[in-house]
Amino acid sequence: MRRVYLDNNATTPLAPEVFEAMTPYLLDHYGNASSIHWFGQQAKSAIETAREQVAKLINARPNEIAFMSGGTESDNSSLFGIVEAAKPHGQYGGKHVIISLIEHHAVLNAAQALEKRGARVTYVRVAPDGIVDPADIEAAICPETVLISIMHANNELGTVQPIEEIGRVAREHDVYFHTDAVQSVGKIPVDVDKLGVDMLSLSAHKFHGPKGIGALFIRKGTHLRPLLYGGHHERDRRPGTENVAGAVGAGKAAELAYLNLESGGRSISALRDRLEETILASVLLATLNGDRAQRLPTTSNIRFDHVEGEGFVIAMDLKGVACSTGAACSSGSLEPSHVLSAIGLSKAQARSSIRFSLGRLNTAEDIDYALEVLPAVVEHLRSISPHYKKEAVNRPLSVAGKV
Ligand code: PLP
Repeated sequence: MRRVYLDNNATTPLAPEVFEAMTPYLLDHYGNASSIHWFGQQAKSAIETAREQVAKLINARPNEIAFMSGGTESDNSSLFGIVEAAKPHGQYGGKHVIISLIEHHAVLNAAQALEKRGARVTYVRVAPDGIVDPADIEAAICPETVLISIMHANNELGTVQPIEEIGRVAREHDVYFHTDAVQSVGKIPVDVDKLGVDMLSLSAHKFHGPKGIGALFIRKGTHLRPLLYGGHHERDRRPGTENVAGAVGAGKAAELAYLNLESGGRSISALRDRLEETILASVLLATLNGDRAQRLPTTSNIRFDHVEGEGFVIAMDLKGVACSTGAACSSGSLEPSHVLSAIGLSKAQARSSIRFSLGRLNTAEDIDYALEVLPAVVEHLRSISPHYKKEAVNRPLSVAGKV
């Protein structure tokens, strides 16, 4: 059966060049990067090259990059690290953090854990288009605010937030600013100076690198406490023996992303637009969720009214097409997506929303195939939906192969 992968926001396939770059550091160069002998220095030098490659992708300085185990750790390190480092050190009470209602669970649940320890958190709303208003962030700032954390691109909708404007607000009020850029790095240009952020999280597996490795950009002069206690690795920012092969993979993936950024983005958005436009034009009661313009070139979130989302994902999978109902880590949850609820969708609307996320390896044939099988899946699920009133529809549903 043909297999088409349209779930690249969950994770991306490892690029063969990345695999090739990593292999020697799994087999031959196995030294501990903290050892002073030749084996150790081989590993150390590879990590420093990787640090330069990652830094270049986001216009940072290499010494501002701390390798971590992924986006989740980088997000947690920022939130806990800043709150704990702010005076009085180690205390949570009397400190205030601002995040948005559409953050990934890595930020959302970290913020909730901070709240349980005594910090105060403001959850800023988003407009129905899935975009945060910087004026709402500014209005939430108070003398106790120690951190603003707003994601760059949303993982479910793909909407890109006005980080530059929020960065200006944060600077004016002298508040630290973190962005979770896990979904944007490697897909659209990301420049830490232009964005005006003090910290930025990224994760290699979202841009054809390996899983289990990411990085936190920490602007020089930013004081945060490490999440873990241990040795002096990563300039005291993240203890633990370095994941050498992982870092090498992240570096190589960053280098490839840097080279492919413009042309890759254009060709992916052309495929995404064709998929989306064809669906919206030919499938009844299909609506785009989130802002059309201000979003990643890779992502399309479409609501198919009266279609049960999980059922759609399973039926498409049986035809060989992988897509999702939202964040991979929330799949299986009975609760509707917090992101879709935040943009004002009802539970039923949220449950009938599907995320298609494309990547570098998708082809025109992939899109043709997805478009060929999709209408029949929608039609079938609607035919078994108790809510779908055929009489409300005055033109026939499109049929397979005729989109
Ligand atoms: N932040 C966002 C926006 C994400 O999409 C993800 C992964 O889905 C994460 C954080 C977590 O990253 P990781 O899987 O590297 O822990």
